[in-house]
Amino acid sequence: MLKDKVAVVTGGTRGIGYGIVKKFLENGASVVLFGSRKETVDKAVQSLKEIDSEYPVEGMYPNLTDAHEVEQAILLIKEKYKRLDILVNNAGISHSKALYDYTPEEFSQIIDLNVKGIFYAVLPAAKIMKEQGGGCILNTSSMSSIIGQTSGVGYPTTKYAVNGMTISLARELGKDHIRVNAVAPGVTETDMVAALPKEVVAAISAQIPIGRTADPEDVANAFLYLASDQASYVTGEILSVDGGARF
Ligand code: NAD
Repeated sequence: MLKDKVAVVTGGTRGIGYGIVKKFLENGASVVLFGSRKETVDKAVQSLKEIDSEYPVEGMYPNLTDAHEVEQAILLIKEKYKRLDILVNNAGISHSKALYDYTPEEFSQIIDLNVKGIFYAVLPAAKIMKEQGGGCILNTSSMSSIIGQTSGVGYPTTKYAVNGMTISLARELGKDHIRVNAVAPGVTETDMVAALPKEVVAAISAQIPIGRTADPEDVANAFLYLASDQASYVTGEILSVDGGARF
């Protein structure tokens, strides 16, 4: 479904991002995965090469909260691959703590990565996509952008912003043949969820109509669809992949 496409996936070293990278590779794309550290990036690339040594995958680790570093990384990719078809802005953090324990520094930190980090990657990527005649930008939102959450106010705030960016960029960039969509996963079995108290996850899971939490692959399938030409007339969509959870 993605033959000859060149993709960048941020936060591609583990969890949902790793699932997206694997799915894209299985479907014929060349992928550059971004992570925060050389060791985790190398480990992820190595584990994908162990699945198939021919997979066209490599890793980089620009600081996503530094606009210049992100731009340089994306320009290097354009220089090497001559194009960039798909940008997946997936890296994200959550501070699951009560308002009374939240610090201004933590609020800034989550905005810096989850919101500004996307903007910094979109700027150079959209220019390349426009020049080459089109492309596709995908963002990882969250179920909590729609329903909020009972603590950790910074996280749903950033994901609501991700939805706003997605919808607005879709309207602005449609004329340049750039589609912009987001996937809003529900509770997905990754390190981010492993960090939550067990009873919180159990309480949420019990209310999911499909009766289970998501695997990264459930979510990656939605990214594959939106990245592919099967979604050629889909833009500005926030696609919920949450097992029907509407708490
Ligand atoms: P994870 O913690 O397993 O992975 C996060 C990824 O982001 C990692 O690859 C990590 O390297 C990267 N990252 C974290 N901090 C970074 C930084 N400062 N600079 C660069 N990269 C950084 O989390 P996950 O659950 O796979 O989450 C991926 C995305 O999915 C996030 O945007 C998250 O908000 C979203 N999400 C997750 C769930 C869930 O239940 N797991 C639900 C909804 C949305």
